[in-house]
Amino acid sequence: MTILVRCSDPRIQKYLEEVGIGGKTGALKDHAVIANTGSIKYFMAKNQMEDFYGQLDILIPHFHAEKIVLLNHTDCGFYKKLGQDTEENYLKDLREVKELLLQKYPEVAVEGYLLDTETGNLKEIE
Ligand SMILES: [Zn+2]
Repeated sequence: MTILVRCSDPRIQKYLEEVGIGGKTGALKDHAVIANTGSIKYFMAKNQMEDFYGQLDILIPHFHAEKIVLLNHTDCGFYKKLGQDTEENYLKDLREVKELLLQKYPEVAVEGYLLDTETGNLKEIE
């Protein structure tokens, strides 16, 4: 089971089905989801990482999650409102949260992607 952390933006839904977010494993057919305006940025900007961890603490054991996929997307309204709508910021946040999660949940793999909302192109962070 994979846990997908994504924005509420409806434009990304078709890519979830077509592009196969989940990297090497292909399309995410069966996954749990945490969706917010701004994806991970919602927790970061509102200083609510504990809320995020609280949800993961329930989802990971309950669904025997093996992987967490963090998804950001370009032209995100939440990032725009913060004046942080740049590729650099999207990627930086993905890297930061990936590091935090790898430390907190060493038994779970973590992948991070930036989805181009226009083209569907996916950029994976290291
Ligand atoms: Zn968004």
